[in-house]
Amino acid sequence: MATDLRLPTSNIVLPDKDRFLNEENPFEAMMSRFDRAAALLDLDPGIYQVLRHPEKQITVSVPVMMDNGEVRVFTGHRVLYNTSRGPAKGGIRFDMAVNLDEVTALAAWMTWKCAVVNLPFGGAKGGVVCDPLQMSVGELERLTRRYTAGIIDTLGPDSDVPAPDVNTNERVMAWIMDTYSMHVRHTVTAVVTGKPVEMGGSLGRREATGRGVMFVVREALAHLGRPMAGATVAVQGFGNVGSVAAKLLAEQGCRIVGISDRTGGFHNPEGIDVAAAIAHVQKHKSLDGFNGGDQLSNEELLELDVDVLVPAALENVITSKNAARVKARIIAEGANGPTSAGADAILEEKGIFVIPDILANAGGVTVSYFEWVQDRGGYFWSEDTVNERLRDIMTRSFQDVLALSRQHRVNMRTAAYMLSITRVATVHKLRGIYA
Ligand code: GLU
Repeated sequence: MATDLRLPTSNIVLPDKDRFLNEENPFEAMMSRFDRAAALLDLDPGIYQVLRHPEKQITVSVPVMMDNGEVRVFTGHRVLYNTSRGPAKGGIRFDMAVNLDEVTALAAWMTWKCAVVNLPFGGAKGGVVCDPLQMSVGELERLTRRYTAGIIDTLGPDSDVPAPDVNTNERVMAWIMDTYSMHVRHTVTAVVTGKPVEMGGSLGRREATGRGVMFVVREALAHLGRPMAGATVAVQGFGNVGSVAAKLLAEQGCRIVGISDRTGGFHNPEGIDVAAAIAHVQKHKSLDGFNGGDQLSNEELLELDVDVLVPAALENVITSKNAARVKARIIAEGANGPTSAGADAILEEKGIFVIPDILANAGGVTVSYFEWVQDRGGYFWSEDTVNERLRDIMTRSFQDVLALSRQHRVNMRTAAYMLSITRVATVHKLRGIYA
């Protein structure tokens, strides 16, 4: 089942070679990795041009009646980066840092992520510029529904299927599903994934991203000849991805020696009681006040001397400024874009084995795919079936990327891009250009 990497070739002229001028611009970060892989593949120049442009970018104004009677107008985006392999797929985030460049980069990343694990989806992302922590539930519901109405022309189980991302959850997905269904006049569960299980969500979806991280860490440790039992782990971010990854890695015998969230972190060389940390966060909404070890900052956590580092929070936490101080043997990118392009070479020189985001955190969208399949088939699977099928896809994808990285003597990130770009490019070539 090896993917044929041969494409019609001719030389690509890269638009500009020095792409690290603004290493924290996410679109630049995505493009510099894309360009590197594209050049190694000797990608057809026409397909190269197609793949470096988003298919569709939508920006909508989202007026919302606030609780105090004032009308506020928010800005929302939805970007469909590429739909050659299937419906556009990707989350929606509510965050003050949202902008069109970031959403476009994240939509491109979704395209490569779905292709790396070989799902029949394209890539999309959405976002609304807002601070959900400062909004009431009613305001959030009105914002969600009006944003959904604004982008409704792209949505649909066959065209564009959102999911949760930063600061959105099952409840937000339920509102999106309801709004869409009211517009089309019948219930369409498959229009979003990450829904509550009671209304067509999949068992295992909530834990899927963290579980996927656990599976690829297991493969990486085995590849490097290191036992899982006793491997030391630091996890940055204690939300849906970080807390589940920590819990499942601990269950596999790893020692979680560092955890953190936006309020700071804790270090305990004897091992942190992850279940107690999760219970603390459930009660107090953050790790603030948790008594599980010595306090340390998020920056210090990234520099702990551990076997495995899992950055599972936001973008650009490992950059050219701190990469030289990272001591982990393996980095598993639970977040999207936690490592800047400028940091890649430094980590590679240090011999750190990086499992890139588009592979490491693909467990979430993989179970989203299972959810979409179950909704469309109207037949639901047991949690064991979901987890087993997730394990199969994550381990097979890890091994596919590893084989390619050995074959081409490139790191895992470049190999993952090569695999996914090849898969997307092959479909473009087969489909041809519609004129
Ligand atoms: N937001 C998640 C991601 O970045 C999940 C996307 C999805 O399930 O469609 O991978």
